[in-house]
Parts: sequence; structure tokens; C-alpha cells
Amino acid sequence: MKGDILAILGFDMETDIGSWTPYYRGIAEGTPKLLNLLSRKNVKATFFFTGEAAKNYPNVVREVAEKAHEVGCHSLYHETVGEELFPIPGIKPLLQEEVPLRLKKATEWVQEALGSRVISFRAPRLWGSAAMVSALDDLGYVADASYPLYYYGKQLTPYHPSSSDWTKEGDLKILEVPNFADMSMESKDKYGRDRDQWPIFRTEGAGKLMFHVRNHVKYVRERRLPVVLCFYFHPWEFVEMPKGPIRVSPEGTVQPDEYLIRNCGDYALAQLEDVIDDLKSMGAAFMTAGELATRWDSEFSHNSVS
Ligand SMILES: [Zn+2]
Repeated sequence: MKGDILAILGFDMETDIGSWTPYYRGIAEGTPKLLNLLSRKNVKATFFFTGEAAKNYPNVVREVAEKAHEVGCHSLYHETVGEELFPIPGIKPLLQEEVPLRLKKATEWVQEALGSRVISFRAPRLWGSAAMVSALDDLGYVADASYPLYYYGKQLTPYHPSSSDWTKEGDLKILEVPNFADMSMESKDKYGRDRDQWPIFRTEGAGKLMFHVRNHVKYVRERRLPVVLCFYFHPWEFVEMPKGPIRVSPEGTVQPDEYLIRNCGDYALAQLEDVIDDLKSMGAAFMTAGELATRWDSEFSHNSVS
């Protein structure tokens, strides 16, 4: 059925290659490319800034907002605000009692740069928790686009989470928006990461990502649920990233896995353009996370194919 697919494009505005470097070439050089593409395609997206990125690049925050996209929040320093799904050296999750203060600070920093309220959030690494969604709910957030479908495998469509288990439906006002994954395929990975959407668009190309998109749409329609395609990308993926070891501090050097930087730059931008065109040909309606959450209960939650 045409018109029943809602698409949320989310860009996580953080340091280059996630937490692996302290640099911001993606924000400085990637964002203008993205804004140009989105304006040519006439689609709106949500840009989730870390507090630090917003503080360092308030002009980018304002430019995103001036182009009528949504500015959201992506934690303070890209720290793990939720539960750790697998260990990363040097990155320990916040203690859950620290979470409300961190999220409050992160929100303030992004709002200072923006000059108005933020209502949408995405957790670094998509690692959330009950403490995180409860704190977001208290801060007045309406959308959290964090749930990694590939890992939990249950919530196929947006839901109001429980304050005791964020992966289950419950009592909170905030809307949890799952990041889609291809649940029709058998996973060979112990965390189910091979079912996830990211970073297929640039490592294997737009066509491969759209193959999984169609599988997901079919899977959700078969269950008569509303189809929401929430995507996650990063501005640094649209800038060529250095190959080989990267000096990141006076104490050392990192070498990110090859797939993390493969085809970053103009190739990735061309693939994103193809993805947008293909979604449009499927009749998808693009909107921001905040708009989806604001209109969900009254307009979209009953969407489904008959
Ligand atoms: Zn991130």
C-alpha cells in the first residue's frame, strides 16, 4: 500500500569514527554535503548532536535547524548511557544513578547552541536502559530513536516503553523508535549484528541495503503493524576517513576495523541519494523523529495493511 511507510533519517553528530577519534571533520565537512543532498531531495531529517559537538559547532547546530531539520541529542560525550551490550576497552557504561545528570547536561548544551528545546534523543551505540528512557521522559523528550532491533529482536514498530524495562511496552510517555534490522534473515553473529542496517549502504551499497529494507517492510506488514523505517548514519561517513593507524593522543594511536571506514566520502553520499530515491519510489513519507512521536498516537499507530 502506498503512503504507509514512514521514514526517519537520523544522523548521529559525534566525533569521527564514533568514539575512536577526537576529531570532527564529519561535522565540519560532512554536514554541508548532507544538508545539500537533503535539500535537493526535499526531505527532512533528525541530527542528534552530542553536547560536546553542539558546544564546539553551534553554527552547525543552527544551520541544521535553519534548514528546518530537527536537532536532537546524542549524550554528552558519546559515553555509554545505557547497558553495555558488548565490551569496548576504555569505555565503561555510566553508573545508572549518573544517567539523569548526564542527560540533563547534554540536553542543556545542545539547547544552548540551538536556542530552543530538544525533544528527540538517540543513545550512542544504540545502547539504552530503563534509567535512560525514564530520565529522558522526565526531561520532556518525546522520542528516543535508540532501540536496536537487531539485538533485542522484538519491537518491530514504535512503542511507549516501560520504566522498568525499556525494551518492553509500558507506562512512559516518550515514544521508543526502533532502528530497523532484517529479522527475516538467520543471524550467524552472536549479537545479531549481521541483521542490522548499518553500515550496509556504504560497505555493500544502496541496493543491498534496500534489499534488507524490503525484507523488513514485508516482515512488518505480515504482522499487520505500522511500517516505520528509522535509519542511522553519521556525518563522518560522508568524508573520506584516513586509512591505517590514526594518532589520537600523545599516548597512542588507534586502527579502526576496515569496515568502519570503508567507502566513506562521496561514494557513501551517492549511496544515500540512491536510498532516498528508492524510498520515495516506495511511497515513503519522510519526517523527523519528533514529528513522528508527536503524531504517533493519534495518526500513525493504527497504520497497517488490510
Ligand atoms: Zn553515535
